[in-house]
Amino acid sequence: MGKDGEVESRRGAKERCMAEERLIVSVSGVRGTVGGTLSPAIACEFGCAFGTMLGAGATVAVGRDTRPSGSMLISALEAGLLGCGVDVVDLGVATTPGVALMTKLMEASGGVVVTASHNPAEYNGLKFLQPTGTGLTAAMAEKLKGIWQSRRFALAGSDHQGQERRQTNTHGLHIDTVCALIDEKKIASRRFKVVLDSVNGAGCVVSPMLLGRLGCEVCHLNAEASGQFAHPPEPSEENLTQLCQAVRRHKAAVGFAQDADGDRLAIVDENGTFIGEEYTLALAAAYVLRHRKGKLAANLVTSRMIDDIAAAAGCQVVRAPTGEANVVEAMEREGCIFGGEGGGGVIEPRVVPVRDSLVGMAYVLQYLAETGQTVSQLVAEIPRYVMVKTKLPCPPDAMELLTKAVRKAFADREGVRFNPADGLRVDLPDGWVCLRASNTEPILRILAEAADPRRAQGLADEVGRIVQATTG
Ligand code: MG
Repeated sequence: MGKDGEVESRRGAKERCMAEERLIVSVSGVRGTVGGTLSPAIACEFGCAFGTMLGAGATVAVGRDTRPSGSMLISALEAGLLGCGVDVVDLGVATTPGVALMTKLMEASGGVVVTASHNPAEYNGLKFLQPTGTGLTAAMAEKLKGIWQSRRFALAGSDHQGQERRQTNTHGLHIDTVCALIDEKKIASRRFKVVLDSVNGAGCVVSPMLLGRLGCEVCHLNAEASGQFAHPPEPSEENLTQLCQAVRRHKAAVGFAQDADGDRLAIVDENGTFIGEEYTLALAAAYVLRHRKGKLAANLVTSRMIDDIAAAAGCQVVRAPTGEANVVEAMEREGCIFGGEGGGGVIEPRVVPVRDSLVGMAYVLQYLAETGQTVSQLVAEIPRYVMVKTKLPCPPDAMELLTKAVRKAFADREGVRFNPADGLRVDLPDGWVCLRASNTEPILRILAEAADPRRAQGLADEVGRIVQATTG
């Protein structure tokens, strides 16, 4: 027993190790299966661990996506926080950027989102936020994991239990913050017809409120905050056929698709064609640079489109390792005005430094309103590339050998540049290829991009051969 009733749980060391194997505990937070690895006990333990890390007297904002397990997990999480003397502000169902924004606006000590983002319904998770709203750094995540593994929680005595209160103005504040950055009247004057697919996720309530305020006529698909996902919640082409059809049927100007926690956005053009997740950041960045000049940030595997858009505006792109927190860290360090990730994630630090589908929708509509062009016309203005993604089995610890071999193979190519921030990215004048190890599986991902599809495939194949020759 330590100060304030610090206790070690009765669970055996062996059992703890097994739980850790099955549950994914990473820099992105905790993720597991409901009724399986992510039990109420685990959520409560992580509440205790986060409460211990922040200390009694701290305040934490919590919210959840619409998964049916969210209510159970948030109650357990809150119990852990309260028991460590931490005050909790329960925001109820909210998007990840919504919880992040409230954490920032309330000047809370941290935030937690109960969500498994784009993962299937059987999963859920806990995402921990810093006071700025951004996810934890690797060092903070490691500290939290260490407290959880030790089970040495700083439980508070009966006079020092945390207080819980509910707050219901998240959506309104989020919309106000986004709308302060755009010309609402200009967008409203166009009376855009928009089809929105919220996949019955956390974006269900706030998103039509935003679009309504912007004068849009909204056809809302999968609009119930039930967590019963009508299709897999990853906003990728194969999951958005219903949206594409609805855009055509309603003759809409644009179709928007959100993932289950409303941080990522995919776009369908006025012809009902999915334009590709990489274009969300590209279009939003093109809009931003019309008005403000400055550095942009993106992760290493984001399409080269953003480099072309920045270069045309006389600006520069800072490349960061994969992971939202890394992009945000680069944005802060380099004073970037805007950034994001290729998978439909735009980050506007003037709202909150996390990916935000509401910002994406608002900026695309503003871009359409200002230019008078259609989505397909704006897409056609951006140089087109083809991205090839493959994965190969990779023995642990082989990365150093592999990156050396790839560097050697490409070293004498004309105009070659290497970026070793996350695996290795090789940039050539007519394309790039990146190899990186997965954080969760013993596999290696190879991504290549070029204007010529054969060139992209050729680069991926060439690196694939080097990997096989080196590891085989
Ligand atoms: Mg997400």
